[in-house]
Amino acid sequence: MAVSWRDAPDAEFAVLGDPITHSLSPQMHNAAYAELALPHRYVALHTPLEELEDALHHLQKRGYHGLNLTVPLKERVFGLLQSAEEPARRARAANTLRLDGLAGTNTDVGGFLATLAPLGLREGDTALVLGAGGAARAVLVGLQQLGLRVRLYNRTRARAERLIEELQVEATLLAQPDATDVRLIVNATSAELAGGGPVQLDWASAAEGAAAYDLMYRRDGSPTAFLDSAAAAGLKTTDGLAMLVEQGALAFEWWLGIEAPREVMLRACHEDRPGDN
Ligand code: NAP
Repeated sequence: MAVSWRDAPDAEFAVLGDPITHSLSPQMHNAAYAELALPHRYVALHTPLEELEDALHHLQKRGYHGLNLTVPLKERVFGLLQSAEEPARRARAANTLRLDGLAGTNTDVGGFLATLAPLGLREGDTALVLGAGGAARAVLVGLQQLGLRVRLYNRTRARAERLIEELQVEATLLAQPDATDVRLIVNATSAELAGGGPVQLDWASAAEGAAAYDLMYRRDGSPTAFLDSAAAAGLKTTDGLAMLVEQGALAFEWWLGIEAPREVMLRACHEDRPGDN
């Protein structure tokens, strides 16, 4: 059962989103506090988009120190910040806040970049990004930094146009998802989270050795529908768990100024994933 931000318990940290029950962030951060004997508590609070501003004020008054933001809040919160670190300014979206002074950063950018090494991407490779929400913004900033060519497809074209304009990124906007010759396909949509099927693709048209990367992860460790169909077509697959841990570790370090126990955080996420134990 999701707890509303209105019923926020005594705690210092929280993740806000809608939906929120899927999030592994509380168990990941609480495991890190326990490991380092820190007296903190991290909770998940259900926060619809139209209630975000009220929720921030309420949690400030309740003495919360830091927040993570997930679907669908990352873009909206950027406009409410009093100050923003460089990754958030580049993505014009934030996933991590300090409530004192309402400062924001975006650890999804570093979290995503940190997980790309095993995929063997090279400057000049082409990537297809599906989605144009808060997470897609972080992905585009990261891919641009690596020098990849980017194709972007979003169900709502106008939102993808706005993303390209606001971020000033080089990206080819597609009318239909097209994986022809791409080395990396990133699913940055919340389609499956919202109960829908994944964006349909002709996987066979992708480049030799291409990889499919779903920012989403399933709590039980089973593959998302997007990765299931990619694997069936012979692509390498990566789910969002490693990125979740890295973006969480970077947020932990930004809030507390001490190194995050990444192994402990990863293990805490695996506790729900019977296949990984
Ligand atoms: P968001 O800002 O709400 O954006 C949602 C995106 O999904 C939009 O582009 C939306 O398209 C698209 N979408 C939603 N339902 C769809 C459907 N049925 N068919 C096609 N497209 C659909 O959410 P977000 O914050 O970017 O998050 C997106 C996903 O990334 C979520 O699954 C989230 O859990 C995941 N994520 C994971 C990590 C991690 O650390 N692993 C980090 C960040 C995000 P429209 O514009 O047409 O509505």
